[in-house]
Amino acid sequence: MSAKSDKGDEDSIMPLRRAWELALLLLASKVSTVTFESYIRVAQPLEYSDGVVTLGVNNAFARDWLEKKAANPIKSALEFHLDTTELTIKFVILTREQQRSIEQKGKSNRIAVGIQSELPLGETENLNHASQKAELVSVLGGNTAVAEVRTDTRKSLSRSQPASSLPIPSLPVNLRYQFESFVVGRSNRLAHAGAVSVSERPGETYNPLFLYSGPGLGKTHLLQGIAHKLRASRPKERIAYVSGEFFAQHYIRALREHSTEEFRKQYRDVDVWLVDDVQFIAGKEHTKEEFFHTFNALYQGGKQIVITSDRSPRELNTMDERLRSRFQSGLIADIAPPELETRIAILQKYCERECIRVSENVLNYIASAIQSNIRALEGALTKLIAYSSIEQTPMSEEMAQSVLGEYFIEKPIRKRRLTIDEIIDSVAVKFGSSTEAIKGPSRNKEISLARHIAMFICRDLLPGDNIRMVGAAFGGRDHSTIVHACQKMEGLLRADTELRDLVKKISLEI
Ligand code: ADP
Ligand code: MG
Repeated sequence: MSAKSDKGDEDSIMPLRRAWELALLLLASKVSTVTFESYIRVAQPLEYSDGVVTLGVNNAFARDWLEKKAANPIKSALEFHLDTTELTIKFVILTREQQRSIEQKGKSNRIAVGIQSELPLGETENLNHASQKAELVSVLGGNTAVAEVRTDTRKSLSRSQPASSLPIPSLPVNLRYQFESFVVGRSNRLAHAGAVSVSERPGETYNPLFLYSGPGLGKTHLLQGIAHKLRASRPKERIAYVSGEFFAQHYIRALREHSTEEFRKQYRDVDVWLVDDVQFIAGKEHTKEEFFHTFNALYQGGKQIVITSDRSPRELNTMDERLRSRFQSGLIADIAPPELETRIAILQKYCERECIRVSENVLNYIASAIQSNIRALEGALTKLIAYSSIEQTPMSEEMAQSVLGEYFIEKPIRKRRLTIDEIIDSVAVKFGSSTEAIKGPSRNKEISLARHIAMFICRDLLPGDNIRMVGAAFGGRDHSTIVHACQKMEGLLRADTELRDLVKKISLEI
């Protein structure tokens, strides 16, 4: 293979260059510093065709090292940024001539970047001439972290919006995450409505929009849904989708390369800023400060900002207080775990999308068992489909039960309703005692502990049962005794991991 040098070849590897620049950001945190600085950073993206990416390295040692120590992280980072799967990564040794030509190019790029970084912000407007733009694009493509370079001419931009040739700092978005494939239920109605409203009138309704939830409940889906909608309806606008992690890495790199001015210009030049998983930057002082200034600049310019997080603004307690009050002035919406009907509807939508028929019973079974994470819900169905196809056996509830066992560890699914007596029996067996002793008046230390554990498990596994009935089942005790025992157990369980494991074990066995 020869080093690509003419303009046509340069254009054809531009997507690979950009993906490689972004992959570097991810890789910096995924491999050791030695591997990154000595081998990955100096590798050259040479070619991407037929699912094979070729990276050039300086010598056989670097090639062997990368093959052994970093092939997998490089593969997955590039797959992510090239939006593909099953890439093959090939490392080849660069010839002397290739190395010299790359070095030469590096030098001229550095000069061009130097000139560009001295331009005052407004002057980027003048870079509309095709050749200037091509040059800038090629420079940026080779030297900065850029996810997307706009190639459209900016003639039709409105006057209020300055034309810009700066690359948009953005991660790629997943085609699957569109509003059309999002199932709306009580748990996510507000978040969904906020996202749709923002995508229709950015900067006008809820600004900023702050979405938060536990993992796997649709934050990224909604955020990318906004990106898709806006990119389709306002193709001229600069829509940036970043994660907190990406922002932090990008900033650190700008610091390292003394290009923070560049960095600021890029971020302040976007029209819509979508930030996923902002909690990532919460503990990082400098990044947080930079985030705050970016946020303010965009907010004051009337640009739409949407932020997601795994916790509420109040719980982001290391986040700047000034930012938190800004969040309060927009819309804050949380997404709760979806109710059963929504979970079933999500599974049905999944089957439609994959063109697979799965019986209602099986869908109900999975949806009843997995309650708090849609990623896990979809993962369970995928696993079952794969199993059934490998075994060439139709899916059934029994198959689901045996194949998906690992998903149900926290709250095992039951076909039949559990009774209080069954719980007392199980605890008695574990303590080598008897049901009668637990129900009886004995104050023996062991038996009292077993009784309290049984009471606690009853409240935990049978939350719907009337507490007076539970008291009655424990030898006619008053309901306040049960409440008191459960409170005491909660305190003990917090402090005593061994006891916690024991209770968990008994609950699972029941
Ligand atoms: P989060 O960002 O909150 O961790 P994601 O947005 O990544 O969660 O969602 C996890 C998975 O669940 C994705 O595949 C997403 O498409 C799916 N998902 C989440 N909520 C819904 C929903 N309401 N309707 C359809 N799919 C959903
Ligand atoms: Mg997410």
